[in-house]
Amino acid sequence: MTLTPQQQAYLTTMGVTVWVDQSAPELVVAGINTDAPLRSEQPAIEADAKPVARPYDPNLDITTLNWTDLADQVSTCTACELHTSRTHAVFGVGNPQAELMFIGEAPGADEDRQGEPFVGRAGQLLNEMLKAIGLQRQTVYIANILKCRPPNNRDPKVNEVEQCSAYLYRQIALLQPKLIVAVGRIAAQRLLGTDTALSKLRSRVHVLNETQTPLIATYHPAYLLRAPLEKRKAWEDLLFVKKTLDSIE
Ligand code: URA
Repeated sequence: MTLTPQQQAYLTTMGVTVWVDQSAPELVVAGINTDAPLRSEQPAIEADAKPVARPYDPNLDITTLNWTDLADQVSTCTACELHTSRTHAVFGVGNPQAELMFIGEAPGADEDRQGEPFVGRAGQLLNEMLKAIGLQRQTVYIANILKCRPPNNRDPKVNEVEQCSAYLYRQIALLQPKLIVAVGRIAAQRLLGTDTALSKLRSRVHVLNETQTPLIATYHPAYLLRAPLEKRKAWEDLLFVKKTLDSIE
């Protein structure tokens, strides 16, 4: 495959240097067709800008909820202490028919303010990473393990993950993605139920136990902003994601 000038520009934005073998002037990446048309754009699920009136019901069976009722329940959730400090619960955003689902850790300050996942600096880098493999943010689905921001961006507590995971698993059940990308160490470890280092979890296809969905782990864009030399590995992960997605029926 030959990278287009636009893709070259995205990779440059990501901070990835593209090496071209002078004896083989085209950069060849097995199995990736960057010329393929983008998936048709479906109406995006908007993050809830305003709180929904329907009150939180702790006895509701989350596994039966549709997208709207699930979003309502999340936006009024008081199941853990994080609701006391949030501005917005951050449900998720993207194409409800997406084949690819990205799952991060938890909202940060920008996401808490705007009610949408990955809208801050890390989100901008995630958007560039998606573009680098020919995807647009609106064509995938993006959510987090936690729907509310932990104060000072501390790591999620065990009880918070437990309380919130029913929402995430209902999102996965409604979406039925072909492939999940766990974004960052915390997301990968919580989803896979392991303490194994992210460096050992990436570069292979796992299976999410609860739904049997294939899952690939990669670096968090916030980490890549702090450690730009790792962006090359993230680029390799994204090519692996694209290749794996294309290989799933
Ligand atoms: N980091 C995350 O893991 N998720 C977000 O939505 C924003 C930053």
